[in-house]
Amino acid sequence: MLSVEIIAIGNEVLQGDVLDTNSHWLCKQIAGLGGRVERAVIVRDDQTAIVRELHGAKQRQSRLIFTTGGLGPTGDDLTLAAIAAATGQPLAINDEALAMVTTTYKTLAQEGSVPDAAMTPPRKKMARLPQGAVPLKNPVGAAPGMLLEIEDITVVSLPGVPGEMKAIFTEALQPTLDALFGQSAYLEKRVIVDCRDESVLAPILQAVADHHPDVYVKSRAKGFGPDVKFRITLSTAGPSAGDVAQTLEKTLTSLKQALDEHGMGILEVKEPE
Ligand code: ATP
Ligand code: MG
Repeated sequence: MLSVEIIAIGNEVLQGDVLDTNSHWLCKQIAGLGGRVERAVIVRDDQTAIVRELHGAKQRQSRLIFTTGGLGPTGDDLTLAAIAAATGQPLAINDEALAMVTTTYKTLAQEGSVPDAAMTPPRKKMARLPQGAVPLKNPVGAAPGMLLEIEDITVVSLPGVPGEMKAIFTEALQPTLDALFGQSAYLEKRVIVDCRDESVLAPILQAVADHHPDVYVKSRAKGFGPDVKFRITLSTAGPSAGDVAQTLEKTLTSLKQALDEHGMGILEVKEPE
């Protein structure tokens, strides 16, 4: 499985002004692609802090690193400078990125959203990428994303604004994701169990998990008080969709058997929405 790390960047997040929904969204996407997020951190708009995380990710042999935030025109947007420092690929105007930013401001000026289309230093800043990087078209904002493949590590930088981050991920980044994740498949099933006591459930689930080490087995309470029920999620990923489906089906059968032996029934099996 491809090991992934996420670095969310922004003082506003660590000050409690903004909830880090970007990491949550990225975790969901990567799990769905069959990847494995090993670590997600939040750091301040601080170049040293970002560089430290990038070096750490390399040491941990992560293959894909996402950053979110800090791509904008202001002086506190330091993500690309940090990537340049960490990789030794100095920042320089990237012609393709410059064309993207120029076009965006022309459109914004025509619409009357900005007074003019002049390529001022702050606007040009968004087109300065580490050497060797490729810009990722931002269809809903000014700052392009960035893709840098260096040695066997891929670094992807996305803006902090959630709509921009999602648009780049689902559009410009798709070919890269297809190449990296190949035909990885991910499946999950949710099961509602007629049991009110998780401590009774725990050893049963542990035994099922021990028999199916490729499957992640997790229970969570659903409802409160006397109405509480437990929802068990079984999830697995692998290179073959057929094998993944079979593994999950076998695990579900084991779970049903184990619950049955303990006098508990399954109330409902749900495919994720
Ligand atoms: P832009 O190119 O639009 O300036 P940026 O890459 O510079 O974006 P930031 O300035 O870091 O992004 O963040 C812009 C806004 O995006 C923040 O004020 C916040 O509302 C939102 N944001 C930033 N990080 C996150 C996050 N991790 N989760 C959710 N929202 C975030
Ligand atoms: Mg910021």
